[in-house]
This record gives sequence, structure tokens and C-alpha cells, in this order.
Amino acid sequence: MDNVQQRVAVVTGANRGIGLAIARQLALRGVHVVLTARDEQRGNDASKELIAQGLPVSFFVLDVTSDDSASRLAEHLRATWDRLDVLVNNAGVALDPWLSALNVAISTVVATFETNVFGALRVSQALIPLMKEHGYGRVVNLSSNLGSLEKMGGLTVAYRSSKAALNAITRVLAAELKHDDILVNAMCPGWVKTALGGDDAPRLPEEAADTAIWLATLPAGGPTGGFFQDRKPLPW
Ligand code: NAP
Repeated sequence: MDNVQQRVAVVTGANRGIGLAIARQLALRGVHVVLTARDEQRGNDASKELIAQGLPVSFFVLDVTSDDSASRLAEHLRATWDRLDVLVNNAGVALDPWLSALNVAISTVVATFETNVFGALRVSQALIPLMKEHGYGRVVNLSSNLGSLEKMGGLTVAYRSSKAALNAITRVLAAELKHDDILVNAMCPGWVKTALGGDDAPRLPEEAADTAIWLATLPAGGPTGGFFQDRKPLPW
């Protein structure tokens, strides 16, 4: 691990919900957070709020479904910081809550995978090379216990299978990067009060961010290729 003082993090889908809470908490720890969002106005508003609190935050547009957008972010990081230490693949959609696998439109499944699976892989492909150059990185993938094969139930097949695929990607990347001090883990934040989780969810985004912050700041030799909730392993 190198001895850099100022670590740099990217959080995807950070204009609201759990991503915003993760961005805030990383910045509170002195990490420079590049808060990203697909919508310029919403992302700017969110980052301005954190900057007004004196936090080390900047904003960059990122739509995780776009190759060009991911490339532009990589170029921006290279030009501005020439490094990346932390990537939180948080952007996600849930487009088929409680729909039957027998009825859900295939286009809905494809759209879900575009963001939750290909989006996370696309951004990882664009940004992890910067981590490799410095031999340090922490990648946190926002998965869900709904993607656990061991606990798999019916309904919500697009979202469930997208998170199972994200878990697979987590393990593949972790295995490929294990000699680079780049630790790649998946986590479930619990059931969280956000636009995605709904108003009945018992947990607030600030609490849900805890495991992400832990995984984003793991020491060398920490776990990699794991699946966690509340800092404890979850069944795959
Ligand atoms: P949320 O409030 O709906 O936020 C989702 C974020 O993802 C928003 O910022 C959204 O941007 C962004 N996003 C969606 N598509 C995008 C794209 N193509 N490019 C860039 N950003 C995109 O949801 P949340 O509850 O905070 O969820 C965050 C993560 O936690 C997700 O991966 C979710 O699956 C996971 N999770 C949540 C819960 C829960 O109970 N809430 C439980 C388990 C796992 P816009 O504002 O532009 O739409």
C-alpha cells in the first residue's frame, strides 16, 4: 500500500439515498469524494450541500449505462488526481418489485441488468486500472440479500438475479485483483428508507452506510470476495 494522504473515492448514484449517505461519511473521514450522478442538476445540488458543510467533495456526471460516460469519468480522474482509491458501485434500480417471473417483461429484466450488473462492471472496467497503477483499491458493490441464492424465494426475478450476478462479478474481480491490494466485496445495506426501499423500511441511509464505509476503508489483508451485512458475512 502506498502512503498517500489524500485518498480519492467515486460513489455512483450518489445524489440521493444510500449513495449520498456513503459519500457524506467517506468525506467526513477526509477522503475526497467524487460524487457522481446521471442527472447533472440533481448531482450538483447534492454535492453543493456537502461542500457547504466543508466536506471534500466534487461532482462529475456518470450514467453507469454509458460507455462514454464511464470513459469521461476515468479521464477526469486521471487528469485531476491521477489516482483512485475507492469505488462504491451503488447506483441501482428495482423495476419489478414483487412481480412474478412468469409475467415480468424481458425488457424490464434487461433494463435492470443494464444498471445493476453491466453498469457496475462497466464502471469497474473503466476505473480499476487507475487503482492497479498504485497497487491499492477498495471496491464496494451494493448488492442485496434478495440476491442470495441460498435464501432465494419467488417474485422480483429481475432485481434478485441482477444482484446474484453482481455477487458473481464481485468474486471474479476479487480473485483477479487479489495480488494488487485491491479488495472487492459485496454488501447488503438492509431494508432502507429510500425511494427504492420505500417509506416502510426501518433503516435510515446513514445507518445503512456503515458497512460500506467499513469495506471502503479495510486495511491491507482485509476480506475480499465477500458478501456482508452489518459487517458480518451473508450466505451467497
Ligand atoms: P435510490 O434512493 O433509488 O437511489 C438509487 C440511485 O441510483 C439514485 O441516485 C439513481 O439516480 C441512481 N441511478 C439509477 N440508475 C442510474 C444510472 N444508470 N446511472 C447512474 N446512477 C443511476 O436507492 P437506494 O435505496 O439508495 O439504493 C442504493 C443501492 O442499494 C442500490 O444498488 C440498491 O439496489 C441497494 N439496496 C437498497 C436497499 C433498500 O432497502 N433501499 C436494499 C438492498 C440493496 P436518479 O436519482 O437519477 O434516479
